[in-house]
Amino acid sequence: MTDQPTASPALRFASLGSGSKGNATLVSDGETHVLVDCGFGMREAERRLAQFGLHPRQLDAVLLTHEHGDHIRGVGPLARRYAIPVYLTAGTWLSGRLGEVPRHEWVVPQSRFAIKGLEIEPVTVPHDAREPVQFRFRAHGRHLGVLTDLGHPSEHVIDAFRGCDALILECNHDRHMLDVGPYPPRLKRRVGGHWGHLANVQAAELLSRLGLDRLQRIVCSHISEENNRPELALEALTPLLSGDESRLLVSAQEHGFAWQSIA
Ligand SMILES: [Zn+2]
Ligand SMILES: [Zn+2]
Repeated sequence: MTDQPTASPALRFASLGSGSKGNATLVSDGETHVLVDCGFGMREAERRLAQFGLHPRQLDAVLLTHEHGDHIRGVGPLARRYAIPVYLTAGTWLSGRLGEVPRHEWVVPQSRFAIKGLEIEPVTVPHDAREPVQFRFRAHGRHLGVLTDLGHPSEHVIDAFRGCDALILECNHDRHMLDVGPYPPRLKRRVGGHWGHLANVQAAELLSRLGLDRLQRIVCSHISEENNRPELALEALTPLLSGDESRLLVSAQEHGFAWQSIA
């Protein structure tokens, strides 16, 4: 996990951890390093970044997808302490969850922008937050989709994430485990609903609609500890891979996943 991004021309990404207790994804073109969300407290985020060979001062930006606690918890403290700019939608800002930060930049859904050489397209997703987006990155001619926290694979999402070389994809729950699991009925309806989280079977449907020809890496992410198991997520996606299962990874709550390089 200590591999650092180097200046070699590749699009790189890693996760500090993923799941309902906290999410944070690193994306780098070798020169620019951005963190997508930070659901870990500041000390924990510092510790996890160090495991990937990074200090918070090396981050060029934190991009925020939405205001839920598992994505925003450490963002304000990190931004204030290390003067890191935060990129977020007006709706996410208006939620009032971030607090004051030294610098913020507006993310306008569907409007591309760049941070140095890293190009970024924010994509609207169906999720129960003020103005949630997920991100498509481009560097060195390669495309990475970061796609979690969506209730269903909308046509808009499918169009926006076609042709990626790597995809971090939500596999939140197994429908049967959610049905028979410990959540109260209201929460079951929220998680399993159109504006909640993606079930394994929906992730498989989304993936088959996107097409797998170009995808070198697919990372099952945001896996629920209560309502899913990594084996079930893998089982749902494996039939789509035509025997090449080496492309498929799992992101864990505790360790995320190590740097992946798309050359
Ligand atoms: Zn959320
Ligand atoms: Zn989440």
